[in-house]
Amino acid sequence: MNDIFATLESEARSYSRTWPTTFDRAVGSWIYGEDGTPYLDFFAGAGALNYGHNNPLLKRKLLEYIERDGIHHGLDQATAAKREFLETVDEKLLKPRGLDYKLQFSGPTGTNSVEAALKLARKITGRESIISFTNAFHGMTLGSLSVTGNSMKRGGAGIPLVHATPMPYDNYFEGQYPDFLYFDRLLADSGSGLNAPAAVIVETLQGEGGINSSRPEWLRGLSDLCKRHDMLLIVDDVQMGCGRTGPFFSFEEAGITPDIVCLSKSIGGYGSPLATTLIKSEHDVWEPGEHNGTFRGNNPAFVTATEALRQYWSDDALQRSTVAKGERVGQVLDELVNTHEGTVAKGRGLARGLGFEDPDLAGKVSKAAFDRGMILETAGPNSEVVKIMPPLTVTDEELEQGLGIITDSVQAVTA
Ligand code: PMP
Repeated sequence: MNDIFATLESEARSYSRTWPTTFDRAVGSWIYGEDGTPYLDFFAGAGALNYGHNNPLLKRKLLEYIERDGIHHGLDQATAAKREFLETVDEKLLKPRGLDYKLQFSGPTGTNSVEAALKLARKITGRESIISFTNAFHGMTLGSLSVTGNSMKRGGAGIPLVHATPMPYDNYFEGQYPDFLYFDRLLADSGSGLNAPAAVIVETLQGEGGINSSRPEWLRGLSDLCKRHDMLLIVDDVQMGCGRTGPFFSFEEAGITPDIVCLSKSIGGYGSPLATTLIKSEHDVWEPGEHNGTFRGNNPAFVTATEALRQYWSDDALQRSTVAKGERVGQVLDELVNTHEGTVAKGRGLARGLGFEDPDLAGKVSKAAFDRGMILETAGPNSEVVKIMPPLTVTDEELEQGLGIITDSVQAVTA
């Protein structure tokens, strides 16, 4: 591999260290090295490529838009591309689910969506602190970092700006303590020193935190806790939204309606940056210009985002196939767990993981899979979980091929 990555790129880089090759092209579930070597991509841009690389349906729309000199950079202007996106969100996502949200275009990336949510929750409630969860990941800017559980990710970035209070995620105490008892008690006790927080921010399934899935009843309990203490519920669906767990929004299965929802990654459809923060209409208390940024309106991303909603969310076909494919992955993981001590199967939908008691093994599986032509990343506080997140458009054949490589790789490193 060209050494310029080692000499000129900051030591903060991650993936160019993990995969010792230089990539060049990518189509569907495949990414190709410069030398033409194909790799089956079961990482899919950390959830940014739910519709695969260079999806041909979205590519056609993008090329047409560029050919006719459609606006590329539009700040916050009203544009035809943005109008179509808003209309399509309303028609395909909000109306069918009876959801009453307004969309704030909060910046190019997931962390921007989270920052907007945290600021808005503090403005709405006049309170300061935010409850977040053990092992949560919400982004790399100071606000979102301060509600991120993994202290390594803070990277010596200094004192967090948001007063964040960590709370145990679902099953943290393995069923030994009643959920939410701790917070209910502290919030009811004027001597506890805990001021009522503005909001709770949660991922319904923690991706970076190690593919930790919460139970629907736990999420309903959390939603009730928020109501009891007048806290807003923010669901960070940056990685698990856009169909990753099956339904478009990862909280749908629990039947809860968050006050604020963060979306990014796959919302743009084609892998280009777009972030939006969904705000219950009654909570849209922003004054014009209070939260702005140069790249709020990525118009080509609006075009591919609109087309992705039209192509994939006009019926429930993608949801059904995601659930079915996810169950197939789950089956193979269960077989591996039955034959390999010290492993655990994790996740739901097409966000799956194989956890290892010995964290080194997860990295070794990832490496063994790379040597067999596959991209797999690890997650979790000690990188102890092999993360399995193919594009939702993965074919059955590709899925079987990938599962075969995972099985071979696990066997190779545990033999
Ligand atoms: N929230 C969640 C749940 C995420 O998984 C991520 C990214 N992995 C982010 C926020 C931050 O998104 P970005 O890296 O685009 O800023």
